[in-house]
Amino acid sequence: MSTLNVQSSCGDENEQGALTVDQALSNMLSAVSEKTTPERIHLTDAVDRILAEAITSPVNVPSHRNSAVDGYAVMQVELASGSDIKSLKVIAKVVAGHPYSGTLQKGEAIQIMTGAQMPELTDTVIMQEHVETDGENIRIDSRHTSGQNVRQAGEDIKRGQTVLEAGIKLTPPQIGLIASLGISEISVKTPLTIAVFSTGDEVLNLGEPPREGCIYDSNRYSMMSALKKLGCDVVDMGIIADDPDKLRNAFEMAAKSADVIFTSGGVSVGEADYTKQVLTEAGSINFWKVAMKPGRPIAFGSINDATFFGLPGNPVAVMVTFYQFALPCLQKMMGLTTPLIAPNIKAQCTEQIRKLPGRTEFQRGVLSLSETGDWLISTTGRQGSGILRSMSEANAFITIEHERSTVQKGELVNVQPFIGLF
Ligand code: AMP
Ligand code: MG
Repeated sequence: MSTLNVQSSCGDENEQGALTVDQALSNMLSAVSEKTTPERIHLTDAVDRILAEAITSPVNVPSHRNSAVDGYAVMQVELASGSDIKSLKVIAKVVAGHPYSGTLQKGEAIQIMTGAQMPELTDTVIMQEHVETDGENIRIDSRHTSGQNVRQAGEDIKRGQTVLEAGIKLTPPQIGLIASLGISEISVKTPLTIAVFSTGDEVLNLGEPPREGCIYDSNRYSMMSALKKLGCDVVDMGIIADDPDKLRNAFEMAAKSADVIFTSGGVSVGEADYTKQVLTEAGSINFWKVAMKPGRPIAFGSINDATFFGLPGNPVAVMVTFYQFALPCLQKMMGLTTPLIAPNIKAQCTEQIRKLPGRTEFQRGVLSLSETGDWLISTTGRQGSGILRSMSEANAFITIEHERSTVQKGELVNVQPFIGLF
């Protein structure tokens, strides 16, 4: 019997010489490094930006001893004991922002509002609900402990203490915390500049009339929006035809202005795809087969100083490779020291998922909670790598490990919810 000398394809269940997902990711991660410089901005523009310098508190928080409740400030020696009831004369009322300047004598109390500075000599606050009052005097029993209901100066943050480390992506409570220290300008990392283009003679720009045999460009839009969500400055370079000169020009232009270049398409075996050939001349690029589905062919490397990601052409493969590979690399390049890792949870499969061992699969699924509070996962139906609907209807990746074979209904699988990922 004679045999044909054929090449492997992404339809093959097992592939010779393919990298595992983990190998491909670790190769990429070790090839990239931070590409940012610091810039100073006002705090009002800082949410989602990456902090470039640790924040050290110039003040104590709270800055002064203050009352945690509305009530009466007293000296601890005035507290009643046993079955005693004590009567104290109320000599003043202090509110937040207006410190009391007088002094307290024995047998006296000062009415105090939440946040108001504790008057000199007082150290304990009795909640207003715990006193009897006739308007001039209060009566207290022995349920109180010395020092209660008082926030000490520096109890939350001490002057000189580091409150936030560099490399975090700033959240609303962290912005509030910085404001609470009186700091209005901070140093953050500049966003990455990222050039994005699509390749292929069959790919149409939005606004162009439909043409036979052609498809509208979806990859550029999904990639650009994912990059914008990450806070990158995106340069839209449009669609480049399968033409060596045009591709060469596009790569040169992109490498001049961008920190990172993203393309889609043209990295698999295809007669009219010149991307591979031009890339080989333009930079130092690896063409990898990764044992995964979808997403097998990926080009990765550099063109001059720019990092290059050549994602596959199929729209779902673009999204999967973007989130599995490009996202962790971009986070490193942005200087994020605590990457936002999407949580992995185990969910029970509501259907059989056919699979052969030897590659990692990223199916798209709908995660839900059962009535008994268990996580359930079902696929979004047909999982072809060109079926973007399989992803747009999903809320999670079902990640089926390299060695695993068919998942039976009822088995547990790893699920990566999109929340936190995008
Ligand atoms: P390629 O790797 O260039 O052969 O592309 C693989 C598949 O993805 C083909 O069916 C292409 O038509 C499709 N494709 C390539 N680029 C895009 C794009 N920008 N938007 C949507 N589909 C695309
Ligand atoms: Mg193509």
